[in-house]
Amino acid sequence: MIKTVNLTKRFGSVPVFENINFEVQKGEKVVIVGPSGAGKSTFLRCLNALELPTSGEIYYEGRLITPKTNLNKLREEIGMVFQHFNLFPHLTALQNVMLGPVVVKKMDKNLARDIAVNYLKKVGLGHRLNHYPKELSGGEKQRVAIARALAMEPKLMLFDEPTSALDIEMIQEVLDVMKEIAENGMTMVVVTHEISFAKEVADRVIFMADGRIVEEGNPLEFFESPQTDRARKFLRSVL
Ligand code: ATP
Ligand code: MG
Repeated sequence: MIKTVNLTKRFGSVPVFENINFEVQKGEKVVIVGPSGAGKSTFLRCLNALELPTSGEIYYEGRLITPKTNLNKLREEIGMVFQHFNLFPHLTALQNVMLGPVVVKKMDKNLARDIAVNYLKKVGLGHRLNHYPKELSGGEKQRVAIARALAMEPKLMLFDEPTSALDIEMIQEVLDVMKEIAENGMTMVVVTHEISFAKEVADRVIFMADGRIVEEGNPLEFFESPQTDRARKFLRSVL
């Protein structure tokens, strides 16, 4: 589905990550963990071309992404959910979810509204359609953000620490929605430190630190018996 070859990113002369070789198959769920500053967010942002890599290649469905690639089309197919929701504050939940289909896909408004209502119901927010972000809880805002990504009917979903800005009692409602998306067959790359989610949902865990992939493997094996000191040290800090 998506693959990187020797992907390298620097900000000026500051290296973020180097030579990342990564691949996700269709339907696969990959969790990325790693310490702050490891480059996880920057890596996700490179995958949907919000950020330009310094060198290396990205292949999406077998095709090399080049300066000629239609990035809008690519971003339509790759949904992203952020830590801080990034909803438009002046738009209701429904309007936030309709916006992409109407503006980007040029969809008829009535159809977009039906689709938006449908996805908001799927994330349990059928009763919050006309609420503005400031009238929603953190967990509700994140579920709106997930509905907004789903409304574009993406082929791949990227999640960047979707629950780390949430109070503890709202984390589970968001993880439950993500689990359901996973069960419906979505291809997912999730940066999260929610270990029980990773164990339950992920096919594979990637441990990123110091700008590289330090360990990669089965989630149960990684969390129960990490192979490197770096991973053991990290896991002690999050467990
Ligand atoms: P966290 O767990 O805290 O979210 P992360 O693994 O997501 O960390 P990134 O946000 O990708 O890490 O940042 C990796 C490094 O790149 C950090 O040192 C950060 O300061 C740097 N960085 C990120 N974005 C920029 C930018 N736009 N300009 C300069 N440096 C940046
Ligand atoms: Mg980050």
